[in-house]
Amino acid sequence: MKLPIILIDNGHGRETPGKRSPDGSFREWAWAREIAARIVEQLGERGVTAFQLVKEETDVSLTARVGRVEAYCREYGKRNIILVSVHCNAAGDGSAWHSAQGWSAYTTPAETASDELARYLYEAAEESLKDRKIRVYKNKNNPDWEANLYILRKTSCAAVLTENFFMDNHDDVAYLRSEEGKAAVVACHVQGIIEYIKNEYE
Ligand SMILES: [Zn+2]
Repeated sequence: MKLPIILIDNGHGRETPGKRSPDGSFREWAWAREIAARIVEQLGERGVTAFQLVKEETDVSLTARVGRVEAYCREYGKRNIILVSVHCNAAGDGSAWHSAQGWSAYTTPAETASDELARYLYEAAEESLKDRKIRVYKNKNNPDWEANLYILRKTSCAAVLTENFFMDNHDDVAYLRSEEGKAAVVACHVQGIIEYIKNEYE
């Protein structure tokens, strides 16, 4: 198997409560699965080994998902595994529309390989997500947000969580549901991951 191996996590399952637009037209779990599958397929077409971490439609617990990532890390070495978790942001609890919008990515607070991966994803976002708001934390050199999210904190490989626009913002939801938006989000991930591999592994 060609290394590194890319694991695309699509958080949440069919029965996850909330995680939808206020009008119910958008479900994070279904969207993230479609996007993850398309990212994996396109990476494969470009000669990159990539898998979906959660193929099930049901909710697979964070503990179980971390267990799957760590099994890959043990088998192939943590430097040879790259995790990207695909999510959508929300400003509220899903009961009302809000004004916050845009794309962002998160890593854990420490400066690690994950930050390098995030920088490539931000560069790709600037290119692929044209005319959309990109939420930058500090600047070009330190664009990603930092949070001790469970899947990032408990996995030992390079890991980034992308928050792909807001599911409680009207304009973002229209974009997320459009083929243009889906294709752009997929392209952003594929390009960012491929540039990261080119610069860090080849
Ligand atoms: Zn989520």
